[in-house]
Formats: sequence, C-alpha cells, structure tokens
Amino acid sequence: MRIETLSVFPEMFEPVMSTSILGRARRMGLFDFHAYDLRDWTHDRHRTVDDAPFGGGQGMLMKVEPIAEALDDLIARGPRPHIVFFTPCGTPFSQKSAERLAKRERVLFVCGRYEGIDERAYAYADERISLGDYVLTGGELAAMVVTDAVVRLIPGALGDEMSSVDESFSTGAGGGLLEYAQYTRPADFRGETVPEVLLSGDHAKVAAWRRSNALERTVAWRPDLLEGADLTPEERARAADLLRAREGAPKDEGGC
Ligand code: SAM
Repeated sequence: MRIETLSVFPEMFEPVMSTSILGRARRMGLFDFHAYDLRDWTHDRHRTVDDAPFGGGQGMLMKVEPIAEALDDLIARGPRPHIVFFTPCGTPFSQKSAERLAKRERVLFVCGRYEGIDERAYAYADERISLGDYVLTGGELAAMVVTDAVVRLIPGALGDEMSSVDESFSTGAGGGLLEYAQYTRPADFRGETVPEVLLSGDHAKVAAWRRSNALERTVAWRPDLLEGADLTPEERARAADLLRAREGAPKDEGGC
C-alpha cells in the first residue's frame, strides 16, 4: 500500500511515520509513505498557497491552483490514487472507514490549513473525512490519525495477526462492540482481583466471559453501537434486558 500526503507542513509527518508500529511496518515494506510539499506546485517568488476569501470574512483560504496542479501531477504518476480531503464538513472517520481504506493500493490525503480550501478543489475528492465535531488547525494531524488506524490493519503490521480483529468497533470477531476488559499481573492489586474465569485456563469460558463483558460495556457506555453490532438473538435479548435495567440508573461515564 502507498500512502501520500499533500500539505504545507510535510515535515510534520516523518517523526510519526518512522516510530513504533508505523515505522516498523514501513521498514518491513508493508506500506510506503511520502509527504509532498504543496508549495512545490506554486510559481511565485513567495510560494504562495493562500489568498483572501471572496465575499470577505476573516482569515485566508488555500488556493485551488496549486492543489489542482499537484493532484494532476501526482495522479499522472499512477496508479490512480484514492483522494481524501480532510475537513470538519466530511463524513466522520470510523473503524469501518479505516478497514475500507486499508484495502486501497494508493491513498492520497489532502490536508487543509488556514480557514480551509477553495471549494473548487474538492472536485478531486473521492471522499471527505472529518475526525470529529471539533476544529483542528490543519489536516496533518488528521492524516496521521487515519494513517495510524489504517496501517495497523495491514496484515503483518501488528506482531500478533489477531490483535486487530476483536478490538473495539472492529467488524471482525469483535462484532462491532467495545472491547472487553483486560488484565495483566498482578492478579490482586490493592485488593482488586481479576475475574476468576480469566485465571481458569478454560479457553471457551474465557471467550464467553469476554463476549459477555464486551456486550455489558457497550450497553453501558455506547448503546448507539448496538444497532449495527453483529449479535445473536440471545445477545440482542440480553442487551435489551440490560438497557431496561439501566433506565433510571446513575450514568456511567465509561472509559476503556
Ligand atoms: N473553516 C473551516 C470550517 O469551519 O469548517 C475549518 C478550517 S480548519 C481551521 C483548517 C483545516 O484543518 C481544514 O481545511 C481541514 O483540512 C483540517 N481540519 C480541521 N478540523 C478538522 C476535522 N475535524 N476533521 C478533519 N480535518 C480537519
């Protein structure tokens, strides 16, 4: 897989792309990364990429010409990239979006700055992604977040092939639920003990406990996920019981 970014701060990417799992995956050749400097497609002495918005208003906008020239050039290098623009007006990013992007051969992220991008540049967008309902100063951090979420799904990127399939939101074995609670040594920490079943060595019982715990946590913290979750009829009935029991109970703020 090839991941590329187009931005005015290409130097922001290297530390993240060469560290930890991303760095290892890149060194293993599981993905190839390149950050392009949008200013390389300007033609004036000041390498101008922004201008004042028509109609007035505060701040500056990213001009359409450098973006269009850069994208024409990068597209021509082939194969045709899947072009993603980052904007708060986009579709909220999710694990499903990451799973979809991880199947692409070449993905090109366009990162905005200032007050955003001239609307005509979006003609190049295959999709617009938002990280959430808040405003960042630029799209570079969004590109790093999405790259991290995508790369860890590439087979071989994580040491343990299974470790991405039953995580929170995963449409794999996790069934779209939050992840179950996890514990490591010591088995007793200041009187707080680990559930007995996890010490039993009985894999079937451990799997059943985890599934049940994942369902309970999802009901408590993210009931909105239940509708799209892959549940058996028995689990759906249990979720409905748990939801009824929670009505009127004090709110649990969660946190896994
Ligand atoms: N004026 C824009 C608005 O109100 O929608 C915000 C522009 S923001 C300051 C500059 C750039 O940061 C955007 O063009 C986009 O690339 C990026 N950005 C900011 N918030 C984002 C978010 N929630 N998701 C994805 N990208 C975001």
